[in-house]
Amino acid sequence: MSMKERILQLYKLNRIDRELHELISLRGDIPAKIEDLSSEKNQHDERANALRAELDAIVSAESNVQTENDHLLEKIEKNDEMLRSGAVKSNKEYDALAKEIEDATNKIKDNEKAAKEDNSARKAAIENELVLIAGQLEEVNVELDQNLKELEELTKQTGEEETDLNAQREEIIKSIDPEDLAYYERISSVKYGEAVAVVRKGSCLGCYSSIPPQKAIEIRTADKFYSCESCGRILIAEEIITA
Ligand SMILES: [Zn+2]
Repeated sequence: MSMKERILQLYKLNRIDRELHELISLRGDIPAKIEDLSSEKNQHDERANALRAELDAIVSAESNVQTENDHLLEKIEKNDEMLRSGAVKSNKEYDALAKEIEDATNKIKDNEKAAKEDNSARKAAIENELVLIAGQLEEVNVELDQNLKELEELTKQTGEEETDLNAQREEIIKSIDPEDLAYYERISSVKYGEAVAVVRKGSCLGCYSSIPPQKAIEIRTADKFYSCESCGRILIAEEIITA
């Protein structure tokens, strides 16, 4: 492939990219909005999950207290029976059993108090925050849905054209030297769809700066790649396109 043809291929690729760029820009800020809303939604979800886990932990701790209290109650009943049965002979043994009953009763009271007082405030705070998050999530979801529908509608209109352009792009890339393509993509990454500029009557049509006559002649000869000194675009002489 001659140098002229290589430049011409990049020019054609650029035309396809320009059309693709126009199609994508029709979507405006919708994709960015969707991204923002999705990340907002994730943050709410994560916070709600953390709160639910904390609530579960509290409830499970409370149920452990319940199990402990059940055991303590059993012990009290057992001791009580022994005391009533008259099987206890010594005062020392009697006092020990009575002391155990007293300790167990106190422990049950402490457990019940701790379960009620310490956790109820935190549990209420968690429930409140969960309600708040649910409200925020609903708002985010409504907005997200709207944007997704809008994007879907836009994509439906332009989808076929986009698929077609992408197919053309795939096709033309096959005939472009990988190094040329890398050169093109480097410029395209900052000037998407605008990597190649036509030189007409000694001016770069990308930035409208004038090109020295000697360089303009060289660009027409196209024995290598030339780029615009002001805007960095790959330059192609109009005569090469229309030839
Ligand atoms: Zn330029």
